[in-house]
Amino acid sequence: MRPARALIDLEALRHNYRLARELSGAKALAVIKADAYGHGAVHCAQALEPEADGFAVACIEEALELRAAGIKAPVLLLEGFFEAAELELIVEHDFWCVVHSLWQLEAIEQASLRKPLTVWLKLDSGMHRVGLHPKDYQAGYQRLLASGKVAKIVLMSHFARADELNCNTSNDQVAVFEAARQGLVAEVSLRNSPAVLGWPNIPSDWVRPGIMLYGATPFEEEQTEASRLQPVMTLESKVISVRELPAGEAVGYGARFVTQRPSRIGVVAMGYADGYPRLAPTGTPVMVAGQRSQLLGRVSMDMLCIDLTDVPQAGLGSTVELWGKNVLASDVALKAGTIPYQIFCNLRRVPMLYSGR
Ligand SMILES: *Cc1c(COP(=O)(O)O)cnc(C)c1O
Repeated sequence: MRPARALIDLEALRHNYRLARELSGAKALAVIKADAYGHGAVHCAQALEPEADGFAVACIEEALELRAAGIKAPVLLLEGFFEAAELELIVEHDFWCVVHSLWQLEAIEQASLRKPLTVWLKLDSGMHRVGLHPKDYQAGYQRLLASGKVAKIVLMSHFARADELNCNTSNDQVAVFEAARQGLVAEVSLRNSPAVLGWPNIPSDWVRPGIMLYGATPFEEEQTEASRLQPVMTLESKVISVRELPAGEAVGYGARFVTQRPSRIGVVAMGYADGYPRLAPTGTPVMVAGQRSQLLGRVSMDMLCIDLTDVPQAGLGSTVELWGKNVLASDVALKAGTIPYQIFCNLRRVPMLYSGR
């Protein structure tokens, strides 16, 4: 059996969820969209359901998967519905629904619903992606109330730059939000992971932690609270071949790495077809036989090469951690010019093994 696999530590997931609650003092929707950032949405939801205030996903397809697996907790659709026909299922399964555009508001006004909805009314406070314009926000709120089709409204917005700790944009967005919602008596939800970890003074009755649940930092720099996160996923494989090479020999596609000294090269069963980033360069950290080492040359589809020259205890069959508790996914992502969000979401083909249920 091919030794590539992802180990998912559900105890660490719960630790990180509790940390989000502790840091915010708020209710927390665990964001498990995109198959829980590649960690397996149903497994993660089942592990969190006894204590979670609810879950958030991107679309009704993801929400229905949770209900089909027996998840009864609230599930928020972060983009609401994509067509009005979904409203019937939203009501039937008690999903909570973001309203981010006037067309959705009109669809609710025109729908005939068997039960009133819980709506999270989204404001565009400066990110300019989705959300009602500030000038439409009060009227939108009043129209929802007047429609008689809404039981509860939560006021929400989303930050564009909360991962930049020395950037004032988040405070500017809060000011826009506060102005737009003046006088509305309702719960508020603003904070995503970087805002939970790094922006303690921003109010939020509900927080929406995503990446932090999986134990990866949203920040490029060191951050005190982020250092309390526990990595949930360990992506590992084994050395399947060892090469001894003199200095001056090229390794892998494109001869992107040439040995500078007599070297031992380990070939690992892991490649970009598994979701390991192809753009990870020579020098990207790995852990082999309990010691840190590095990637060498180009990542292939099913294999990659690592340096064993200074790891004499490593050889055929040695375990390699590509990311996990020792090699942080965020460090690998940074080397590959991307973010931990993407390297988690890209994961495929590797079997997932769960512990800590
Ligand atoms: C994905 C998402 C989140 C979670 O963001 P993280 O940075 O992963 O914490 C929160 N809110 C909304 C609206 C989202 O789309």
